Amino acid sequence: MKYLSTRGEAPPIEFEDVLLSGLAPDGGLYLPEAWPQFDAGTLAGFSALPYHEVAARVIAPFAAPGIDEATLAGIASEAYAGFEHPAVAPLVQLDTNSWLLELFHGPTLAFKDYALQLVGRLFDHVLAKRGEKVTVVAATSGDTGSAAIEACRGRAGMEIFVLHPRGRVSEVQRRQMTTVDAANVHNIAVEGTFDDCQALVKAMFGDVRFRAECRLTAVNSINWARIAAQAVYYVTAGVALGAPRRPVAFSVPTGNFGNVFAAYVARCMGLTVDQLIVATNRNDILARFLETGAMEIGDVVPTISPSMDIQVSSNFERLLYDYVRRDPAAVRRAMERFRQSGRMTVAAVTMAGMRGLFAAGRRDDDETRRTVAEVFERSRVMLDPHTAVGYGVGQAQRRDPGIPLIALATAHPAKFPDAVEAATGTRPNLPARLESLMTLPERVETFANDAAPIMAFVRDRIGLRGAA
Ligand SMILES: *Cc1c(COP(=O)(O)O)cnc(C)c1O
Repeated sequence: MKYLSTRGEAPPIEFEDVLLSGLAPDGGLYLPEAWPQFDAGTLAGFSALPYHEVAARVIAPFAAPGIDEATLAGIASEAYAGFEHPAVAPLVQLDTNSWLLELFHGPTLAFKDYALQLVGRLFDHVLAKRGEKVTVVAATSGDTGSAAIEACRGRAGMEIFVLHPRGRVSEVQRRQMTTVDAANVHNIAVEGTFDDCQALVKAMFGDVRFRAECRLTAVNSINWARIAAQAVYYVTAGVALGAPRRPVAFSVPTGNFGNVFAAYVARCMGLTVDQLIVATNRNDILARFLETGAMEIGDVVPTISPSMDIQVSSNFERLLYDYVRRDPAAVRRAMERFRQSGRMTVAAVTMAGMRGLFAAGRRDDDETRRTVAEVFERSRVMLDPHTAVGYGVGQAQRRDPGIPLIALATAHPAKFPDAVEAATGTRPNLPARLESLMTLPERVETFANDAAPIMAFVRDRIGLRGAA
């Protein structure tokens, strides 16, 4: 499979290069040149397979010819072996024809594990084959850092440095990062804000010599391999509820548009998806876009669903590319206008196409707490705030009650215990396997908000490895 840039001005490349490279050199995002297809019989047959085997089957056409299906099967089997639930991504019925897809059974209790546990191993596989090493650098406001660390821990080809704002992440979030006992994992607490951490990471990537010397890379949510890995649970959930014989609908709590785009990918591959509901909190650029046809940037406001506190949803560019019939000049024009003015519009015919599949809605914090409380009262199921946004918007926007609606549970309620306790009066417990978190020793270095000493530290740690 060859990959094209949405901006059309970068040469097509293979999966392994897409995996390691992130953004295309023309500023676009990579997409496969065609959507692989599964016929109805093949898809229906997936309902009898364990999760990791479906993963290998779904991802194989994207990874060919560089990585074959047998290799993928081995990698996937390892990636999901540590997940807590035997089904990996189980469905729980909440209501009449209404289901929760639990995506919090991985090591850090959030859905990002489902992609990152696989992608970390894919990186390692490709790097070993090439005899290369990379340095992963990331900034986190709390949630994504631990998933990236768990993906990279102990991998021979990777060193990982994660910057978090000191004192501004929850104790559980901090300990999920700092108690990881692996020599290639380095936590940096910065005296500053999350924005300062992001600026420091940007400065490191912006220093051309440092970037090349350390072979800096990112495992962020625009990475194509993450999207491909996420398409898997849409397929397993859909076929479990009768697809492709009957259609299903999904409601997805959305920030960067990576997760809901993976649902679109599953549909392009043959899954019968009737409706995709994009659920946002007060940071509602996507909901406003689907209502008005204008994508208009606003200020980011903090909410109780912080992983969706985003104004620019990078992965939306991939959807736009497909809906303008893969015309890269149209994407370039739209993105250039958006960059210059913070606003872009799409043609009425394109909007009509998108609205045929996508619906959207928003929930503020009070509404979200009410949803958490209501569901708990009714069914004793605890939703984390992100999941509650998705469930609430999903119920409001579903257009056909005869079609199963699958709401994605993107985080375990115990990841956001304060918000859940405030809504239900009951504090969610951490799963037993995470109880030791609160007593394990922590490893973290504290730095001032200054790039030079942090870069010196990175150099030093990379050099030291192997000598120790
Ligand atoms: C990252 C995240 C989201 C948003 O997912 P996107 O792919 O960025 O749209 C939603 N919920 C939780 C818990 C997350 O960690």
